[in-house]
Amino acid sequence: MNFILLGAPGSGKGTIAGRIEKHFGAIQISTGDILRAAVSKGTEIGKLAEEYMTRGDLVPDDVIMGIMKDRLREDDCEKGFILDGFPRTLVQAEKLDVLLKEINKDINLIVNLNVPDSELLKRLTSRRTCSNTDCNAIYNVISNPTKVEGICDKCGAKTIQRDDETETAIKHRLKTYYEKTAPLVEYYKNSECFLDSVAVSTDALFDEILNRV
Ligand code: AMP
Repeated sequence: MNFILLGAPGSGKGTIAGRIEKHFGAIQISTGDILRAAVSKGTEIGKLAEEYMTRGDLVPDDVIMGIMKDRLREDDCEKGFILDGFPRTLVQAEKLDVLLKEINKDINLIVNLNVPDSELLKRLTSRRTCSNTDCNAIYNVISNPTKVEGICDKCGAKTIQRDDETETAIKHRLKTYYEKTAPLVEYYKNSECFLDSVAVSTDALFDEILNRV
């Protein structure tokens, strides 16, 4: 099974991806995680992406497509994949369609997560992420804190507030989302496999997903 997850930053794409991964055995592919790993390793892509990411702007489409063309051809995608944070522009969506044809794959479900801005802002400013880019565990100081403050439960590395999760950067990311990514709903909404969800919990959303596949 292959999935696309659409939704603003903080809408819960990563959380539902984890549930889908466990249930369907599909692999989560987060372009944000791939880019953060590239930044922390100091690769050419990382150097290029870093300033866009810190500002809360999108990394150029060519860079993202370069990453995804290779990533979707890797062997682990055979068991299914969950695209988390990609596509994020109309150009990426159109190029993804071409890429899927080339590699002979289809998308089974496109899920759009709708969450009010006030809730997104609250979730993102209280979010903490494991600094180990091989772990990437996500916590929330209010709703899902680490057992020991500032230390990842899973791997013991420090948890951090991402540079792009300050209030100013988040407001900019939301603006970018409404300008560039929200129009993807129009692009996909007539597809038979489009699910527009206003579920208020991960469990409710997961039930909606199970009912559709
Ligand atoms: P995320 O963790 O998905 O919120 O992504 C963090 C940041 O990585 C975004 O604010 C963008 O700067 C960049 N990014 C992630 N995915 C994409 C994408 N598909 N297109 C462009 N930029 C992206």
